[in-house]
Amino acid sequence: SKSRLKGGITGFEHEMDGRYIEQQKLKADLREAVAANALHLMFQPMFKADGTRIECAEALARWVHPEKGSIPPDVFIRLAEEMGIISQITRFVLFKACEECMNWPDHIAVSVNLSARDLRDADILSVVSDALAHSGLEASRLHLEITESSLIDEPAVVRAILAELRSRDITIAIDDFGTGFSSLSYLDTLPLDIVKIDRSFVRNIVEDTRRLKLLRGTVHLARELGLKIVVEGVETHEQLVLLNKYRSTDLIQGYVFSPPVPSKEIGILSQALNRR
Ligand code: C2E
Ligand code: CA
Ligand code: CA
Ligand code: CA
Repeated sequence: SKSRLKGGITGFEHEMDGRYIEQQKLKADLREAVAANALHLMFQPMFKADGTRIECAEALARWVHPEKGSIPPDVFIRLAEEMGIISQITRFVLFKACEECMNWPDHIAVSVNLSARDLRDADILSVVSDALAHSGLEASRLHLEITESSLIDEPAVVRAILAELRSRDITIAIDDFGTGFSSLSYLDTLPLDIVKIDRSFVRNIVEDTRRLKLLRGTVHLARELGLKIVVEGVETHEQLVLLNKYRSTDLIQGYVFSPPVPSKEIGILSQALNRR
């Protein structure tokens, strides 16, 4: 730090330096893990609201650090963005997710998260084509999730990329809807198919009727725009009952039905539903 040049290091600065060094170490380890394809994926199913069928599963990246154990994706994805290596992670996840989807029943799609960075570069179009070609997966079984913050920087570029992906029969979902800046009227102008309503909308719907009204209103408007609805983070049976009572969603992704699971569990879960 600057003051070290002046000769003085306070205890606070020691601590800051310690944290800084730790962060640099974590970054170096992440760079190594990504280069070695050492991340792995879990998949969280999205169920039809009545729970009778799995329609899609979201690929969620996992990093188990050799000493520190499991590092949350919120942490290492942000680091990867800062380091400029997120596109390598996206590529890995796309290839792996498409491969795994080929092992599931035909009606189940796979959904992959894209970072804002991925959408600023038309290279993403060839990465997606390569992942589909390499796995043999039909484009109609690939969904891509983008967040509202992806749309801020270069809206024209992002819009063109999304339109191109959609023209190839890929489904586009807006993720964490309701947590960002945009309004539904803005959504209307974007090439989108699915709205994933953020779990913060669901959290208090049982206790607070105003929260339920807000959720129902949001869903109603999204439906008017012709979008399909996924409600995220449904944890309890009470929440599930309310959502179904008001037909407030098409699909549900949440612990009430399933946490993220290894790929092979998707087929097993799906078969178990068929037998019921
Ligand atoms: P997300 O895209 O919103 O993913 C859903 C997160 O909610 C997952 O956390 C999932 O485990 C969690 N979740 C699912 N159901 C419930 C529930 O009922 N209750 C609660 N409290 N949580 C639930 P996870 O796996 O820790 O992922 C966190 C975030 O990391 C993701 O949020 C996504 O933004 C990011 N992420 C994960 N994998 C990738 C990836 O491959 N690429 C990119 N760009 N981002 C990723
Ligand atoms: Ca997501
Ligand atoms: Ca989400
Ligand atoms: Ca998120």
